[in-house]
Amino acid sequence: MIIILKNNTSLEQQNNLIQWIENLGLTVHLSKGKFHTIIGLIGDTSCLDIDLISSLNIVDSVERVMDPFKLSNRKFHPEDTVIQIGNVKIGGGNFCMIAGPCSVETEKQILNIAKVVKNAGANMLRGGAFKPRTSPYDFQGLKETGIELLKIARSETGLPIVSELMNANDLPLFENIDVIQIGARNMQNFDLLREIGKLHKPILLKRGLANTIKELIMSAEYIMAGGNEQVILCERGIRTFSDYTRNTLDLAAIPMLHELSHLPVIVDPSHATGIARLVPPMAYAATACGADGLIIEVHNDPIHAFCDGAQSLKPEQYVELAQKIKQIRNVLQK
Ligand code: PEP
Ligand code: MN
Repeated sequence: MIIILKNNTSLEQQNNLIQWIENLGLTVHLSKGKFHTIIGLIGDTSCLDIDLISSLNIVDSVERVMDPFKLSNRKFHPEDTVIQIGNVKIGGGNFCMIAGPCSVETEKQILNIAKVVKNAGANMLRGGAFKPRTSPYDFQGLKETGIELLKIARSETGLPIVSELMNANDLPLFENIDVIQIGARNMQNFDLLREIGKLHKPILLKRGLANTIKELIMSAEYIMAGGNEQVILCERGIRTFSDYTRNTLDLAAIPMLHELSHLPVIVDPSHATGIARLVPPMAYAATACGADGLIIEVHNDPIHAFCDGAQSLKPEQYVELAQKIKQIRNVLQK
């Protein structure tokens, strides 16, 4: 249930109402927007008399929220959430460009790519140190060493770093990582979601390979219910009967997620297509659909990449893509 307060409500009146609701055993989420103050109620609201609350002179309107997601729901928080990572902002009109290799391989490789993507206009660096691979015989990531190399790349370039966490036991290694990525395969690892819900750190939550939009939002809700409200949603393609692409990029998910939730939505056209030449067109389309950012795999030597070389852009291709994205954003803002 949400209670929209009248504009002239005093702080004392607002607090009295909140106190009364909390005494009934409900949790309150307050959202103070430019135009309205909204009290979101979480818990069993059947004990509340909706007519009684509507009749209070400080209440503008009361609405039952039937969706199973509350904290992530736009009805609870009508304004876009803006997530800040150092000087970088995501959401509410702030566009982020995350780029880097699928996995960190060597110091030379990550430094080289970090510098290239920074010069092209990227404002965050990605790189996997723990890799979820289909085959146990494939490269599994440099693990702790990979994390250390990412930190070196950050200190050389100033770019905040994004890396995937697969297991809560590795959390101590991620203390200095700016954004923790939860990969598609772990989107419904509820124990892991609960653990990262206890952190005060932005989480990049990727949509599962075969998960619905509602399931993605419910996973964000797990993290937020723990107290961590800094969640960035990521559409990265889903499994369909598409035969020539790795996945199918669900472009309609972008405006739909924006409608349902106030959280920023970014797009990963690399994993969505699996083919480098398809990455630019999908990145342009996602930008035109209102994405709040892009996460793109870039490699200095894709043919020899340890992981996902076929979908990795060469540095010069990323430079061109980044320029076009700027042009598209300029057109959209006009
Ligand atoms: C990745 O970002 O390298 C990755 C493994 O992504 P996803 O979880 O979307 O497959
Ligand atoms: Mn990858």
